[in-house]
Amino acid sequence: MAENFTAFVIEDVDGKPKGGFTTLTLADLPDNDVLVEVACSTLNYKDGLAVSGKGRIARKLPMVAGIDLAGTVVESRSPAWKPGDKVVANGWGLSETQWGGYTRFQRLKAEWLTRLPDAFSFEEAMGIGTAGYTAALCVDALERWGAVQPGGKEVLVTGAAGGVGSVAVALLAKRGYPVVASTGRPETHDYLRSLGASGFIDRAALLDKGAPLQKERWAGGVDSVGGQTLVNALSQTVWGGAIAACGLAGSSDLPGSVLPHILRNVALLGVDSVMAPQDRRDAAWARLARDLDRNALKTMYEVQPFDALPELATRILAGKIRGRVVVDVT
Ligand code: NDP
Repeated sequence: MAENFTAFVIEDVDGKPKGGFTTLTLADLPDNDVLVEVACSTLNYKDGLAVSGKGRIARKLPMVAGIDLAGTVVESRSPAWKPGDKVVANGWGLSETQWGGYTRFQRLKAEWLTRLPDAFSFEEAMGIGTAGYTAALCVDALERWGAVQPGGKEVLVTGAAGGVGSVAVALLAKRGYPVVASTGRPETHDYLRSLGASGFIDRAALLDKGAPLQKERWAGGVDSVGGQTLVNALSQTVWGGAIAACGLAGSSDLPGSVLPHILRNVALLGVDSVMAPQDRRDAAWARLARDLDRNALKTMYEVQPFDALPELATRILAGKIRGRVVVDVT
């Protein structure tokens, strides 16, 4: 095992969080039960905020950033895991209150780990990452609500060319729901069509303030944008439909009306991946293993070296990343 290894650590510099590459040893890691040799991590919007210092994601410093990791158990004091087990960790406060995945080794609590389905390599698991796993939670939420039907009315995905959106498009289409992708990037239409989108709507069309009850169109939706986009999605949802909302890439505001909810029985289903219970996680990963086409997955992510992280963080905050980024920490 490597004595020294590189990690991306956020530290307090003159009262501000500042990230940089640092050398750690195993003795520096937290005293949790399971030591994991990390193969890859990934880059989510929240990681972009943490790495760039533009958002206060870490609630204690120093903090190893990275909200996802995939790797192999090396040592375990928990009976739940043994050396050689292949695992992923998504959320659970990694990079916020617990040291995260931008490192070659990490010690984690047993209950933060999910068994990696055999279907996926580490690279593919991180190609999915928190964004993809959250997309699966959103589709689960819509189906549990009974909002969507194969071959039924259209399902909207906002922020469609982003990480959550791309995977949501693919998962929904695979289930036979007609998917309309909302994106501000027309150049991604071919890509989204290859994932299963059957229609498009320019994201600008969902940004204007509209009437609280608009023409009913969507059986359901997955929204990673928030703000007026989410309000318009709710206003255009059919009676009894639902929007699963997980993101705020556009805005954290909700400047809307109760009318879609009280006159059309429309549900706003909040989705949080960070503290999702283990059974929901297992169900989401099982869905991904079952429904996410491997060839489509390959087109959704790029693999980047560890030292590109600061530049990648800037790009994701500028909305310039298409799909997902796997960070190779080896
Ligand atoms: P990405 O940056 O990959 O994708 C976000 C997409 O949103 C962009 O690609 C773009 O899509 C669209 N977008 C960006 N800015 C705007 C804007 N100003 N107005 C309208 N649309 C915009 O991020 P992720 O997919 O990784 O994450 C999406 C959101 O989901 C983030 O807010 C993230 O924090 C949240 N999230 C929440 C989780 C949870 O547990 N609740 C877990 C994971 C993510 P396009 O180019 O197609 O228009």
